Amino acid sequence: MAIVIIRQDGKIPIWQEALKKAAPQIVVYSYLEPHPKEEIIMALVWKHPKGQLMDYPNLECIACSGAGVDFIFEDMERPKALPITRVVDTMLAKDMSEHVIAVIFSYLKYLGHYRVDQMRKIWKPMQYRRIKDFKVGILGFGALGSVLAEDLVRFGFRVQGWSKSTKSLENIESFAGLDQLSAFLATTEILVCLLPLTDDTVGILNASLFEQLPKGAYIINVARGGHVVDADLIEYLENGHLSGACLDVFHEEPLPTDHPFWEHDKIHMTPHYASVSDTESVVPQIIENFRRLQRGEPLLNVVSKEKGY
Ligand code: NDP
Repeated sequence: MAIVIIRQDGKIPIWQEALKKAAPQIVVYSYLEPHPKEEIIMALVWKHPKGQLMDYPNLECIACSGAGVDFIFEDMERPKALPITRVVDTMLAKDMSEHVIAVIFSYLKYLGHYRVDQMRKIWKPMQYRRIKDFKVGILGFGALGSVLAEDLVRFGFRVQGWSKSTKSLENIESFAGLDQLSAFLATTEILVCLLPLTDDTVGILNASLFEQLPKGAYIINVARGGHVVDADLIEYLENGHLSGACLDVFHEEPLPTDHPFWEHDKIHMTPHYASVSDTESVVPQIIENFRRLQRGEPLLNVVSKEKGY
C-alpha cells in the first residue's frame, strides 16, 4: 500500500521529503517516476493532469493537498465513487487571516496609494481611516473565514459572515442563505470572499452583488478567480461604486499580460499566494488518513460531493 503524489508545480520532492520525515515506513512515489500502480491506495494531488487518477486500479482516496477542491470536481475523468479529502489546517487559516488583515490595513492607511505617489514624487497626505469606520463582511464562513473573523474582532473591527448554514460566533453577526444575502451586503463596507468555487458560487462577485454593497465598498477576493465576473468588477470600479479591489486569484493563472486588471489603478494584485499548505503542518493529517485507509476507518476532512466543498 502506497501514496502517489501528483502535481505539476515542481513541489513533489518537498512533499515526498516531508512525508518521509514524518513517516519513513510509508512508501511514497512521484507520479513522474516508474512505480507499481496497483500498490497505490492514496493519491495526494494538487492541480493534477485530468484523467491521471484513472491510472490507479486500487485507489481508495483522492487527498487534496490544499483546502480548495474545485480542480478535482473539474476533472470529469476521475474515479467518481472515491472519497475526496481536503486540508483543514490551523496554519493555513492563520496565514490566510494574516494576509487579509495586511490587505485591510494597507487599504485603511492608503499604503498602496502612497507607494504609487512615491514613484511619481508626489507628496499628498490623505485623511486616514480607522478600524471603527468599517464593517467587514466575509462571504464563506468556514475553516478560513471563521478564523479571519475572530482575528478581525480582536483588532476591533465590526464583522459579519455569510454562509449556507447559520453560525454562532461571539461578537460576529451570522447571515445564511440567499434570503439573507442582501441584508448582509447592505451593511458590508469591506467584502472578503472566502467561498469555495461551486456551481452555486461561480460568478457570485457580479454587478448585482456589487450594486447591493454601500457606495465606496472595497472587495478582497482570496477564494478563486471563478467567483468574479471580471467585466462587472471593472465597471463598478470605474463608475465609482466600488473604491477598489485586492485580488489574489484569477480565472487564468498566471494572469495573461494583456488582462486589464494589471494596469488598473484601483486593483491591487497578489499572485495566488495568500495562504499555501505548509508541508510540515499538513502532513500529519495526510498520514492519519493513510493509516485510517489501511485500517478501514472513516477518513478526516472528507468533502461533500453533493455540496462540492
Ligand atoms: P470551508 O469549506 O471550510 O468553508 C466554506 C464556507 O463557504 C462555509 O462557511 C460554507 O457554508 C460557505 N458556502 C459554501 N457554499 C455556499 C453557498 N452556496 N452559499 C453560502 N455559503 C456557502 O472552506 P475553507 O474556509 O477551508 O476554504 C474556502 C476557500 O478558500 C477554498 O475553497 C479555496 O478555494 C480558497 N483558498 C484560497 C487560498 C489562497 O491562497 N488564495 C488558500 C486556501 C483556500 P457552511 O459552513 O454553511 O457549509
